[in-house]
Amino acid sequence: MAIIAADIEWRQGLPYSPLFKEFYFPPSTDMDESESVFLQQSELKQRWQSLGKNFHSFTIAETGFGAGLNFLLCSDLWLNTAPKNSVLEFFSAELFPIDKAELAKILSQRPHLCTLSNELIKHYPVPVPGIHNIELFQGRVKLHLMFGDANEMFSSISQSPNQAQAHHNRKPVDLWLLDGFAPISNPALWSSDLLATIASLSDQTTVALTANIDRKTISTVSNNLQSAGFSVESYENNGSPKLRLKASFVGGKSQQSTSDNSSGPSQWHLDKTVRPISLRDHEVAIIGAGIAGCTTAVALAKRGFKVKVIDRHALAGQEGSGNSQAIVYPKLSPRDDVLPRINLRALLFASRYYAPFWQRGLGNQCGVISLPENPKIAEDFIKISQRFSGCDDFVHLLKNDQLCDRSGISLNSPIGLFFPLLGWLPPAIICQQLLEEYRIPLMNIDIDHFNHQQSDNRWNLIDTSGKLAHSTDILVVATAYGCENFEQTNFLPVTQLRGQISKLPAKAKTKSLKTIICGEGYLTPAQDGYHSCGATYNKGLFSTELRAEDHEINIAKMRHTDPGLDAALENLDASNMEGRANFRCTTKDYLPIVGPVPNFSSMLKNFSFLRRDARTDSMVMGDYQPNLYINCGMGSRGLSYAPLTAELLASQISQQIPSLERDLVQGMHPARFLIRDLKKKQL
Ligand code: SAM
Repeated sequence: MAIIAADIEWRQGLPYSPLFKEFYFPPSTDMDESESVFLQQSELKQRWQSLGKNFHSFTIAETGFGAGLNFLLCSDLWLNTAPKNSVLEFFSAELFPIDKAELAKILSQRPHLCTLSNELIKHYPVPVPGIHNIELFQGRVKLHLMFGDANEMFSSISQSPNQAQAHHNRKPVDLWLLDGFAPISNPALWSSDLLATIASLSDQTTVALTANIDRKTISTVSNNLQSAGFSVESYENNGSPKLRLKASFVGGKSQQSTSDNSSGPSQWHLDKTVRPISLRDHEVAIIGAGIAGCTTAVALAKRGFKVKVIDRHALAGQEGSGNSQAIVYPKLSPRDDVLPRINLRALLFASRYYAPFWQRGLGNQCGVISLPENPKIAEDFIKISQRFSGCDDFVHLLKNDQLCDRSGISLNSPIGLFFPLLGWLPPAIICQQLLEEYRIPLMNIDIDHFNHQQSDNRWNLIDTSGKLAHSTDILVVATAYGCENFEQTNFLPVTQLRGQISKLPAKAKTKSLKTIICGEGYLTPAQDGYHSCGATYNKGLFSTELRAEDHEINIAKMRHTDPGLDAALENLDASNMEGRANFRCTTKDYLPIVGPVPNFSSMLKNFSFLRRDARTDSMVMGDYQPNLYINCGMGSRGLSYAPLTAELLASQISQQIPSLERDLVQGMHPARFLIRDLKKKQL
């Protein structure tokens, strides 16, 4: 889990790596070595200038982010040449991230890039391993900064460890920048393993460029590239003893990547039907205008799709997303399981996603204090704080006096975790503003069912009066537990779980609460004289009537969380208390359901062999409904999960490389329950 920050020495006024015994940028050439090496050979300017007015995305992937100079130079060129509505997707791996202050020092040497570098520095992520998805320059560039080893990270974003399926139904990388120090000092970044992974994410249109390479090692790199399926040309560099390579992918052997030696790559998550790569002009309808539907709509609209949202309410955010104060809720773990990893990624992404809303005064990025509910959780908090040491901007441990200072009230807990980047938001307003800002129409229709019309490959949506209400190429179901009502999605094991929140009148000692407090429940800072406190879990109860006993439960949870809080809350009368009750959509494994909708009956048949032997290695691919997707099952964490799941789903629909590792994508995949249940012989 831990990240080792780059150790940088300054020599001759330039950053030098004592570990690799090399300068980040060679002192012999001018400052813009990167520009001369990469941009000139790539003919990017001409390529980007000639992109048509339709939406385009161009994917660059780099081995070794370093100080992000290549990234900034590519962004600069993109912003000056590519059409405004198109997006540059820049994936870059970095095993030893440069610390923010050092990065700022390095980039200050490039005054001509200062506007761009300031934005990069402002959004530079905390040193948490994994992929950080950062939208920059008014959304025209997306940086997928992958903190980890290049081979591991690039393998993790391929569709399958099996090379032949690595970019199945997905766009390849357009351009590779191979820039990970010289082969002699860092052979790992030129290894045949890594180059095989790189090849697996490439197709016949892909080009790879290298930094300057010593003549002594050039033949090894060239041979490795050739064995991976590239045809290679070398270039002189103005009389320098070094050469550069330009490699074009011509197709390799369909070999298994040696980098992932898992016993047999399961392929149930891949759609066996080959889908056309470009669906950009096509229409998408999203059923459900809650936070899942609205964030998905925006993520697709930004990718050039024509999006419509459909809801049985005339306004967005009227059901599960209707509470006036919802929190971006942390749930970390000292363990490295899929659930806390997804939660972590969701929190980091959500805190960036909502920053503009907080900046315009909606909700409050007031920070969240998590108090331990018992000694076991207190131990976990200490482990979490150790695990995230160096990431104070994201989370750090507070002792009692600091807890009191931060929260503004007198608490008794000896320790707590503080998340400065999180806060609360009014989700319905967020939903409405998202649709408004991206001019996404909301159609007020109550959809009863939908069916696929094979003749034109479209989905027909039928309303509750039996009329054809709409038809669309691509359909996304974002109706939370409402997915149970549709024939194609009703096999999904979701539960409609009632939750009631209570509006607690602010008291003399709670008025001063500055942060959200989470423990057994949560309490927000007062807004118009009331705190939001929640929430109950009432299984099997399907009424939205407020219940005094549920208010009592909410209050009791906060009283148990901390005796100081108990005292500050004073006496509270639950009998006529205000609040709101609605329903969450929960799943068996507490993770959302995001991705293509399986064709349940075919998959049941095709994967029935798992009932006999759950460990069978199978190359069988899944069977999915044509252009039908789902985004639901977020429990009480809709606000936290939705930005990330929307982005994942939009990248799947537009067949782009997602900003999430394969095991995390599979962890939220709609087919996971079916496969697990077959393995457990429960289907
Ligand atoms: N492209 C960078 C830029 O424009 O600023 C310069 C890259 S620098 C020459 C090479 C980078 O590769 C270093 O930051 C180094 O930490 C990183 N690196 C080395 N080994 C790595 C590995 N196995 N995986 C990912 N990054 C690695």
